Amino acid sequence: MTGKLVNKVAIITGASSGIGEATAIALSIEGAKVVITARRSDRLEALAQRIREKGGQVLPIVADISDEAQVQQVIEQTQAQWGTVDILINNAGVMLLGPIEGADTEDWRRMFNLNVLGLLYGIHRVLPIMKAQGSGHIINVSSVAGRVIKGGFAVYCATKWSVNVISEALRQEVYKNNIRITSIEPGLVETELTNHITNAQVKENAENYYQSMKNLSSEDIANTIIYALTQPAHVNVNEILIRPTEQGD
Ligand code: NDP
Repeated sequence: MTGKLVNKVAIITGASSGIGEATAIALSIEGAKVVITARRSDRLEALAQRIREKGGQVLPIVADISDEAQVQQVIEQTQAQWGTVDILINNAGVMLLGPIEGADTEDWRRMFNLNVLGLLYGIHRVLPIMKAQGSGHIINVSSVAGRVIKGGFAVYCATKWSVNVISEALRQEVYKNNIRITSIEPGLVETELTNHITNAQVKENAENYYQSMKNLSSEDIANTIIYALTQPAHVNVNEILIRPTEQGD
């Protein structure tokens, strides 16, 4: 394999669809060994097959990232297979929109447990590995919702603001260890993200909003992630906010 990330070991969470899937392919094309993880094993296997057919090295691992023990297993299996972790892409996330009043409070737990705690579990586990090897890059997939506040988005926004807060605090904690931190903040991207909204009216409104403009593609975000990952070692790209041209808010 050739490419700018040859032999780098990268873990991509939420790799069974959307941004994570496109990012896994993009990293593999750049020569990285990719660990792809999510809950849907059939999707992971299909993606692994595509990557192998193109000559890439891939390790699919089924895991629920909101469960700390399962995150630990992902890191341990990666180390057992390839000895280290150079890149962690914290991408798994859910967007269960809706107003606070009348919400299904289980939606809140799912969002915080995955978007915030799941992301932290991965960071917590890879930091000792990256510190020991003297380098590493952690990419956190946040959102425009981590920069703007909207009624009806309270808890999702809170999780993505948390991702940005964690990213900057983490940068300050680890820059001396040559570990780079990047927060990616996409606007509307055409993926399965709205499929999981539990409030039927909110789901319909969200789908209509997505359909009202030309969305970014998952590949657009994958390209952005590749940009951050392939800068020279002295360049720490901390934040990228990227919207569809037609998105005003
Ligand atoms: P998708 O719904 O297509 O992808 C979400 C991924 O997260 C899937 O691979 C899913 O896999 C995984 N996932 C969900 N729950 C869990 C869990 N408990 N454990 C492990 N994996 C899980 O949407 P996107 O690609 O759009 O989402 C990726 C990220 O991008 C999210 O963090 C989202 O917030 C963010 N984002 C998306 C935007 C958009 O407009 N699409 C805009 C801004 C940010 P599985 O179900 O198989 O577990």
